[in-house]
Parts: sequence; C-alpha cells; structure tokens
Amino acid sequence: MMIALSATVSRLRAIPNVAVFENEPLQRRTRFAIGGPCRIFVEADGVDAVSGAVAVIRSSGAPWVTLGGGTNLIVSDEGFDGIALRPTGSAIRSSAPAVIAAEAGASLQDLVDASIKLGWSGLHTMTGIPGSVGGAVYGNAGAYGRSVAESLVEVEFFDGSSLRRLDNAGCRFRYRESIFKQQKDWVILSASFRLQPASAEPLGAEASRILAIRNSKYPPDMKCAGSIFKNLILDELPEPVRRQVPAEVVREGKVPSAYFLEQAGAKGMRAGGIQVADYHANLIYNTGCGTAAELRSLIADLKGRVRDRFGLELEEEVQYIGFEGPVRIAAAGQPRQSVL
Ligand SMILES: Cc1cc2nc3c(=O)[nH]c(=O)nc-3n(C[C@H](O)[C@H](O)[C@H](O)COP(=O)(O)OP(=O)(O)OC[C@H]3O[C@@H](n4cnc5c(N)ncnc54)[C@H](O)[C@@H]3O)c2cc1C
Repeated sequence: MMIALSATVSRLRAIPNVAVFENEPLQRRTRFAIGGPCRIFVEADGVDAVSGAVAVIRSSGAPWVTLGGGTNLIVSDEGFDGIALRPTGSAIRSSAPAVIAAEAGASLQDLVDASIKLGWSGLHTMTGIPGSVGGAVYGNAGAYGRSVAESLVEVEFFDGSSLRRLDNAGCRFRYRESIFKQQKDWVILSASFRLQPASAEPLGAEASRILAIRNSKYPPDMKCAGSIFKNLILDELPEPVRRQVPAEVVREGKVPSAYFLEQAGAKGMRAGGIQVADYHANLIYNTGCGTAAELRSLIADLKGRVRDRFGLELEEEVQYIGFEGPVRIAAAGQPRQSVL
C-alpha cells in the first residue's frame, strides 16, 4: 500500500492546480476539531484538476472520500487510511435573469452574500450555514424555511469517468437528502440557482436577523456540526408517537429531534470532552479535548434513550469518515455502551 501510494502522491503532484498533503491531521479540517491523520489529502482547484485527481485516486485502488469545509463530519480518532479530496474552486458568477452559479469549493456564505448584494431572494435565509456549496448540495442544506432544493437549477459533477449534469429533479432532493448521498463517488463541481428578483436591503436585514439568532445558538468558535440528528417528518411518525407531540413544537411538518432528545434527558449530558448543549438537546460540541470515540459513545447513548422512550430510531445528519457507518445501538433489552 505504501509503495503504491507514494507513486500516487507523485502522480497527483504532477497535476496542475493540485496540492497534496501526506498524513494530514483531519482535526485541522473539521469543525469538530476531531480526527486522526489522513494518508493523502488532496486539494484540487477547477474541473480539470478534480477530474485528473479522481482518475489517479481511482486507479490507486485506495479508499477515498470527498469533503468540503468539514462542518458536518465526524472523523475517527485513528484517521482515514486512504485519500481525501477537497475541491477548492470557489468562483461565483451571476447572469440574468437572477441565476447565480458557484463552484463547489465556494463557501455557502459567500454565495448567500453575493445573492443578497444582487437583491435576489431564495438563498438569503441560509445565511450562517457554514461549509461549502458542494457540501450544501450533497446534504440539501437549509434553514428558516428554505433549502438548496427550492432554487437549484443544475449541478455539474464528475462521476469518475465523465463530466455530467443533473437538473433539480435528477438530484432527487428530499429533506437533507440528495442522490449524492447514494453516489458517494460522484464529486460535485458546481451548482447553479435560480432566484427571485427582490430588493437587497430587506433581504440583508432578514439575513442579519437570522445570523444574530444563529450566532447565539452556535457561537462561531463552537466545535460542533450543527444538528447531529435529522428532524422527523410528522406524517411518518407512528400514530402513538404523533399523539404525544405538542402542536407547538412542529415546524414545517417536522418534529425537531431535539424535542424527543430533551424528553429523554439529553440536555447537558457529557461523555469525556464531548457535551450536549444545556440549551439545545440536538447540539453536541467538543469542549476542547473530546475524541471521536466519546462522540460516538454519546450518540449511541442518545439514540438508545430515544428508542427506549419513544420506539424511534434517530438518524444522524452528520456524516462519518473512517468508520464502518453510522452508530448502531444494541437491540432493545441488551446492554448498551455507557456514557464515559
Ligand atoms: C454551527 C453549525 C450550524 C449548522 N447549521 C446548519 C443548518 O442550519 N442547516 C443545514 O442544513 N446544515 C447545517 N450545518 C451542517 C453543515 O454546515 C452543512 O451540512 C454543510 O452544508 C456541510 O458543508 P461542508 O462543505 O462543510 O461539507 P463537509 O462537512 O465537508 O462534508 C459533508 C458531506 O458532504 C460531502 N461533500 C462535500 N463536498 C462535496 C462535493 N464537492 N462533492 C460531493 N460530496 C461532497 C462529503 O463527502 C460529506 O459526506 C451546520 C453546521 C454547523 C457547524
């Protein structure tokens, strides 16, 4: 493996606009500030660099992942014995009538800010969602009533052998879901959005109001991934659970998973250096010295509590690198991993 990968490093370094880092600590690349080293970390700027890098990466036979800003990731303490690819192209372009396009490596906030400056409505409520445009498309990011799915026109991506495009329907968006979650070896390169002409001033005012709320909930230096678990669709809940949900907690047809977590006593729980916020049961953060093992242990405990209390399986919104998959909890009645 080492010999094959050292040849891979040389081949990657020969591609224009590609930067290669060996044994890169992923704690530097994630908002949780958790994660061991990645054998090869590749930054590729532009379509040719990304497609060239993917061709080399695939031919190496090593496991590989794509990542963006690392704001929705849990990386194992052991790191990732493979290759991580980060598209870094960040150009943003606008064209009439009210279409704005961005490369995957652009920050979502830069895209949101550009749209507000143009006086185009549709992305402004997503102000304050950290991470890249690529990550936002992958997870159909959204906040305050709007998500990527409502305004996205087209995505350009590399499927490993050719450049392809998908329209909105082709992306199969659902709540925090897209086709890219099923096709993890497709690399998103850029996306375009059709917005509604409006007026910059009220859009900016609304964005500022939202940002102030968000900053009080997620201080900018908080080491976290936003919400750990997806919310639940009210209509999909079993009838006995639905009956227990007070109408006032339902938002846009969804029940915040924080509601179930709070009932299960999650607020303020701790596992080593990892803490559930005492004001928000679906917000877990690293106090500074937390590990991925503690994070997984706490997630297992929270999932188990909600299952025991409501018979519901919470699903992580956060994505994992360097693990076999999401946290699995023991079947009901069997002992679970306890919180450290
Ligand atoms: C404080 C805080 C608040 C948050 N609030 C919200 C919120 O309100 N709403 C919301 O939806 N999310 C929220 N999030 C979660 C996170 O910001 C989003 O999921 C974001 O879109 C992730 O983007 P990223 O670039 O950081 O992706 P990463 O975390 O780097 O990656 C996430 C996933 O996207 C995939 N991916 C990334 N780039 C590409 C690409 N170019 N091609 C293919 N796959 C790719 C990765 O493989 C990975 O599986 C919040 C996070 C934090 C830390």
